Amino acid sequence: MRNWAGNVSFSAARLCRPSSLDELRTLVAGSRRVRALGTGHSFNRIADTTGDLISLAGLPPVIEVDSANRLVEVSAGLRYGELAGELHRQGFALHNLGSLPHISVAGACATATHGSGDQNATLAAAVAAVEMVTPDGELRVLSRTGDTAAEFFGSVVGLGSLGITSRLWLDIEPAYSMRQHVYDNLGHDQVLEHLDQILASAYSVSLFTGWQPDPVYQVWRKRRVTAEDDGGAEPVFFGATAAPVARHPLPGMTGDNCTEQFGRIGPWHERLPHFRMEFIPSRGEELQSEYLVPRPLAGQAIQALARISDRVAPVLQVCELRSIAADEFWLSPSYRRDSLGLHFTWIPDAAAVVPVLVEIERQLAPLESRPHWAKLYTLQTPALRGLYDRYADFERLLALRDPGRKFSNQFLEQCFTPR
Ligand SMILES: Cc1cc2nc3c(=O)[nH]c(=O)nc-3n(C[C@H](O)[C@H](O)[C@H](O)COP(=O)(O)OP(=O)(O)OC[C@H]3O[C@@H](n4cnc5c(N)ncnc54)[C@H](O)[C@@H]3O)c2cc1C
Repeated sequence: MRNWAGNVSFSAARLCRPSSLDELRTLVAGSRRVRALGTGHSFNRIADTTGDLISLAGLPPVIEVDSANRLVEVSAGLRYGELAGELHRQGFALHNLGSLPHISVAGACATATHGSGDQNATLAAAVAAVEMVTPDGELRVLSRTGDTAAEFFGSVVGLGSLGITSRLWLDIEPAYSMRQHVYDNLGHDQVLEHLDQILASAYSVSLFTGWQPDPVYQVWRKRRVTAEDDGGAEPVFFGATAAPVARHPLPGMTGDNCTEQFGRIGPWHERLPHFRMEFIPSRGEELQSEYLVPRPLAGQAIQALARISDRVAPVLQVCELRSIAADEFWLSPSYRRDSLGLHFTWIPDAAAVVPVLVEIERQLAPLESRPHWAKLYTLQTPALRGLYDRYADFERLLALRDPGRKFSNQFLEQCFTPR
């Protein structure tokens, strides 16, 4: 059994697929070691266990809209694509989505998965409350207000280490429409000079580059349709020109696999992700890494990468730059800081990629870059610890909520020492 990318073989003794909440609770209570598996889209061993791997995909799907309170109750195993379509049918929307709709809501929130947008925090920022199965099989609900608020902010981005999320309540808003425009050949100088205006030019903006010598960027701008929006978009954007055909972020791939472009109006969930639910997202044969740096240091981070582009480009498929708003989750890479995400889709050759990760981390270390928990990185615990103000608080929470380390695995043991 492998993850989506095929680079991780799970060492689980059993894969369990409970069909009811009671069955899930009994399984957890009776297990010595257990991990939840979402849709397996992580690139490292974060989801692995030597015990029982539990998929929640067989639990009855729940999408219960509470329009008065602008909330939706969701069963944790659902994928964003399944949730978003139904929400839209009922006239509602989420604030943002990642680049793909294929991932589970619980798995994405557990790792601080994010999309793009100066005002858009991580997907977990939509979580108002969460229900977790505790080591003894009991249910515990944490809410962002009230008595459990402090623990809530330590738990939602919890890397699956504090319990198995069984239900979430997410903020919703009235459904909205969007347009997506793609531009080619944005110059490196323009990016360095006008990064803030470029990233603020739409609700969600992504820049893609191959870090070739004298880099150029593709720009994806996703705008919300408003009453004042005339639908037009500049044919030239900071010197970049409107793409003549539908683009895919990865060279050599067809734009048919991607969400609609050319400014055609469509629902939020068919524009916010880059990739369409009915196709394999990205390329499939790849590895990924991502580092988040504080927004004020974004220019320095881009220059640092440009300095080592000759190391990066040979093992790179594409690099994506996105903006992420600050949030309050202790382990979120955008905890209390607006951030620029520097994402890398690599060739599927770990031996060639890892030395480049070491070099990127060396370049970005002075900028306090935090790696995406679910992707590849080489930073060790002492370095990680220094990057998060609430690291020790999280370790205390671990000791309190999972004293027997039932939900732990090798990945987490290397990262955290419960106190
Ligand atoms: C093609 C591709 C594109 C991507 N794009 C983005 C992107 O745009 N932005 C971004 O930030 N990331 C992106 N990612 C990374 C991805 O969002 C994360 O790996 C995310 O965690 C995947 O969700 P999953 O359901 O597959 O989780 P899994 O990989 O299955 O699990 C991840 C973690 O979540 C835990 N978990 C899963 N379910 C539960 C549960 N019910 N309760 C408690 N813990 C649980 C697991 O134990 C594990 O620790 C991308 C990945 C791929 C493959």
